Amino acid sequence: MGTTTDPSRHPNLWPPFTQIASAPIPQRVTSGEGALLHREQGQPLIDAISSWWVTLHGHGHPVMAQAIADQAARLEQVIFADFTHEPAERLGERLSALTGLQRLFFSDNGSTAVEVALKIACQWWVNRGEPRHQIVAFDGAYHGDTFGAMAVGERNLFSEPFEDKLFPVARVPWPATWWQDTDVSEKEQAALAVLAETLETPTAAVILEPLLQGAGGMTMVRAEFLQAVEAQIRKAGALLIADEVLTGFGRCGDWFASRRAGIQPDLMALSKGLTGGCLPMGVTMASERIFSAFIGDDPTLTLWHGHSFTANPLGCAAANASLDLLEAQPDAFLNFEQRHRPHLEQLQRHQRVINCRLTGTVAAFDVAVAGDSGYLNPTGPTIKRIAMEHGVFLRPLGQVVYLLPPLCITDEQLERCYDAIGNALDSLEN
Ligand SMILES: *Cc1c(COP(=O)(O)O)cnc(C)c1O
Repeated sequence: MGTTTDPSRHPNLWPPFTQIASAPIPQRVTSGEGALLHREQGQPLIDAISSWWVTLHGHGHPVMAQAIADQAARLEQVIFADFTHEPAERLGERLSALTGLQRLFFSDNGSTAVEVALKIACQWWVNRGEPRHQIVAFDGAYHGDTFGAMAVGERNLFSEPFEDKLFPVARVPWPATWWQDTDVSEKEQAALAVLAETLETPTAAVILEPLLQGAGGMTMVRAEFLQAVEAQIRKAGALLIADEVLTGFGRCGDWFASRRAGIQPDLMALSKGLTGGCLPMGVTMASERIFSAFIGDDPTLTLWHGHSFTANPLGCAAANASLDLLEAQPDAFLNFEQRHRPHLEQLQRHQRVINCRLTGTVAAFDVAVAGDSGYLNPTGPTIKRIAMEHGVFLRPLGQVVYLLPPLCITDEQLERCYDAIGNALDSLEN
């Protein structure tokens, strides 16, 4: 505590998720090009985690840049109550068709998209005159850093100072699985048993990250499990909220992870890849059944929620341009898994590599470590440093190493990512 910071650090900036007493000095990035980040000093780096899971089509994409510039010259922002605009309407039509959820509510980021979903779910029950209080979430979940999003996420080191301010949430185990996992059915049955018992209490909503928990450690579940979860939720009459902030827009090998898993949520939170990762925007999709409970003469039925930058036209233009690119080349995400697979199979032979898993563009494994596993495990920083020396930017979650590259990454660049990981693992053994 009270450590004087290094004078080579910028004196005015407070970086996210960073303990600056120990973190390396941030490097200045001057431009980006496809999967590459150009730094003021040093060779270009392959951005193997899509700059915190947002960059979809690559950096400096000319189509994205043009769409944003054109919109900026036409209309950069307008109040979205009393007014509407064409980019927002077009996005609403497209996302409604893609998600099967008719109504789109705008906010600014993933956390707010989750907050809005939670508020809609709770108020929906109130508006119907039968308030329900229980919210159910999964162990290991991450839903964002604002208070409501924190409350439904796993309680950990990050939420500890705020524990007394977070509303209670019922928890269900997350039956994470991986290649050659022999216990998956038992884990799923145990989780479903806990869910069934939990849902005996009237439940407003169940929130989950379909197929892939991101910040919780890139852990994956089977589609069959999610289908069984949905069946229980339907039986209990609760709402299903899919947090697709990370998994949406091709990340999991389909347009949405829910679609790939064969489930149909009532509410869906989207952000990150929504704008191709170019601009901050979040949306919450809701079914017409939910929306209709907010209509009526009684003012208390209204969803009294909004953000200054609601439906920002630049964000909408970027989102539409990103959808154009995805629609023009769906194979880029539909077939990405096949690009990872041979590399991951090769890596699996390394003696430090365990629990390999893969969905769509996301490949992950655990490094077998002595001592405590978890976010603060020192293996992560070591692998990160060595990979960077090999021209690849990774950001392991503790002992969990993953690749989550932009769709535009070339085969040669992807191979370099795996080579860098292999080199980093080899040096661990010394
Ligand atoms: C990143 C993330 C969030 C939070 O999004 P922000 O834009 O960082 O607020 C919520 N849910 C999931 C699944 C995420 O990966």
